[in-house]
Amino acid sequence: MIKAVALFSGGLDSTLAIKVIMEQGIEVIALNFTSPFCRCDKNTGCGSAISAMSKKLGVKCQRHYLADEYLEIIKNPKYGYGRNLNPCIDCRILKFSLAKKFMEEVGASFLISGEVLGQRPMSQHRRALNIIEAETGLKGLILRPLSAKLFPLTIPENKGWVKRESLLAISGRGRKPQMQLASDYGINDYPCPAGGCLLTDPEFSRRLKDVIKEKVITIKDIELLKTGRYFKVGSSFRLTVGRNEKESNRLLNMGNKNDILFEPVSLPGPTALGRGIFSDEIKDKCYQIIARYTSLEEKVEVRSKFLFDDHQEVAIVGAMGEEELSQLRF
Ligand code: SF4
Repeated sequence: MIKAVALFSGGLDSTLAIKVIMEQGIEVIALNFTSPFCRCDKNTGCGSAISAMSKKLGVKCQRHYLADEYLEIIKNPKYGYGRNLNPCIDCRILKFSLAKKFMEEVGASFLISGEVLGQRPMSQHRRALNIIEAETGLKGLILRPLSAKLFPLTIPENKGWVKRESLLAISGRGRKPQMQLASDYGINDYPCPAGGCLLTDPEFSRRLKDVIKEKVITIKDIELLKTGRYFKVGSSFRLTVGRNEKESNRLLNMGNKNDILFEPVSLPGPTALGRGIFSDEIKDKCYQIIARYTSLEEKVEVRSKFLFDDHQEVAIVGAMGEEELSQLRF
């Protein structure tokens, strides 16, 4: 039996692409990529929904977490960024390259993807799709069942593994044809619709841009950017303030050796983690930010603690004013 590997995001388009190919008697193995920039939770939300959908479709699903290799392309994408810090063409090249390796490992003959011509401004126009095929050495081996009739014949069609007449010619951003097809297949609950990538979020991209211009970034830095309120205090110091108890507890475990923790003394309030080049003036501002989120009391006792040597200091400060706070919020 001919096998294909499907890039499976869990969204409607990749679900339909799998269904169309399975209808042709081809065995499909799904490959799902997650990354630190995926908005869905790895273990609950999207993760379990993807497993449920794979089960429903009757396909095995392999999950692959993109980590350091992904950070590299975000720092320096060969084909640039989209509207925010989304390096979509490089991202697709990386995913297809890994999918090609997986295809060879499992003895599959081609790849399928739910891409629809013209649906995404950066990565799903004809030129981008050609670049992706050329860069990955997959020319003719990527079948996009939802738009296949708008592309030249692929190898699986040429070889007669897949009948072209049962493929589709969908293009553009509208979703009606996909909705109709889903209803024909009886698919009515599909997880994680398109748009689950933090790199397309302007606020997150601004924070990330601020971090990558200065230093080598790690997954830990990304996790920190996704947590809490973010303040830039001085040109090279960042303060992340927990918005609730869960985030404050998380921040306690996210520190590096040279980071500084701030928290109110004997009053309920947030924990904050500071990272960067530090001065007394910056420290005072951090105290005032903590005081702002602690209580309505006029003066608050705030503690700072250096993670590398356990040295502590306590200051009694008033809350930072709204205007200054909004200037430092990043
Ligand atoms: S939106 Fe995000 S996940 Fe999707 S192709 Fe672009 S960078 Fe990759």
